[in-house]
Amino acid sequence: MNTRTAKAPHTSAPVAGTSIASTFDASVSDAADLTRRPSEVAQSGLSTRTGEAFHNDLRPLPTEAPAAGSRNTEARRLLTAQELAPLTQLSNARSLWAIGQTAVVIGAAIAAGVAGWPSPWLAVSVVVIGIAQHGLFILAHEAAHYRLFPNRTVNDAVGRLIGMASGVSMCTYRVTHRLHHNHLFGKQDPDTAIHGGYPRGKAYLWKKLAQDICGLNAWKTYAYFFGSPAINDDAPGEVRPLNDTSPELRAAARQDRWMVVAFHVVAPLLALALGGGTGLAMYFVLWLLPMLTVIQPVLRLRAICEHGATTDLTSPLTAARSNNTSGTLGNWLARAVLFPHHVNYHLEHHLYPAVPHYHLPQLHRLLQEKNALQGAEVRDVRDTLSLIFAERKPRV
Ligand SMILES: [Zn+2]
Ligand SMILES: [Zn+2]
Repeated sequence: MNTRTAKAPHTSAPVAGTSIASTFDASVSDAADLTRRPSEVAQSGLSTRTGEAFHNDLRPLPTEAPAAGSRNTEARRLLTAQELAPLTQLSNARSLWAIGQTAVVIGAAIAAGVAGWPSPWLAVSVVVIGIAQHGLFILAHEAAHYRLFPNRTVNDAVGRLIGMASGVSMCTYRVTHRLHHNHLFGKQDPDTAIHGGYPRGKAYLWKKLAQDICGLNAWKTYAYFFGSPAINDDAPGEVRPLNDTSPELRAAARQDRWMVVAFHVVAPLLALALGGGTGLAMYFVLWLLPMLTVIQPVLRLRAICEHGATTDLTSPLTAARSNNTSGTLGNWLARAVLFPHHVNYHLEHHLYPAVPHYHLPQLHRLLQEKNALQGAEVRDVRDTLSLIFAERKPRV
């Protein structure tokens, strides 16, 4: 999930503390370790880097620019506790429905692939399975926020299972992802490596997507999901998410990573035992191949649509984006491929991460009714794509 990029873009001042801890375990709000990172070393590394010209766009903002996240608290006062309460209610049925929908799509694509084996039509199954694996990841993201099921044991068990199926350690991602929420576009945001600095020019983004679909960047994605965003030289060197958490969550993350490894050792062996060489080939083509190829550009493009080419980093209203995915065939297609389970409402998710995915459209409507989205990053997905694929402009 990390891409080649410069270090610590848009850094100016530490981000103010946020109030989203409600969707993470309270015990992980300890940020003491954050003061120990060698940001000066990372900064000095910036000046020695050479490379593509887009690095020029990642210079620190002028000192007088407002700090990233400086209006977070103000933005989160848009709704009252009474207005938010019904939107944060969790529903077992709604989550089961979302998981079931995704499982049916995967099951049908695998069944079609097996029934027609071998056939050129397998390519369709591979694409559909990869897109649905991304849907599973989005639901694992819900579990990371404790939003999948109200019972935390069930939430974590299901979240881990659907994460591990596509190579994601949900418990590790929970730790990494908290930094993204709490330090959006700040020094500690591990995701800036993927969405920072856009637009970088059409050629750059197309090249990245082509590398993704060929599977060349898959190792970086899974290093990220195993808690090592900084394993990539281009990610901020100071990001060490697993240092920044409670011993309990760190232990859970470690155990979960071993379970993911075990799953992906057992799965091919099981396929071999059940179907011999053909069974093993089916496992590789109908499960591993989509994981290594199709899901990669989907993850990148969705993340860039969520945060790429934003210019006001002071609040989730402008540093994250809500993409409209209805009204036209192209928008519907974007929803099907990039934005399953209402993940297009990313601005709303950053504003109130305690709201589960199925209430995000209602949250969006409520914010609209209150005129709270005036000037916010709310765009038709076509306009977002034009923005992120635009030619790079020097920052003034
Ligand atoms: Zn999130
Ligand atoms: Zn985000």
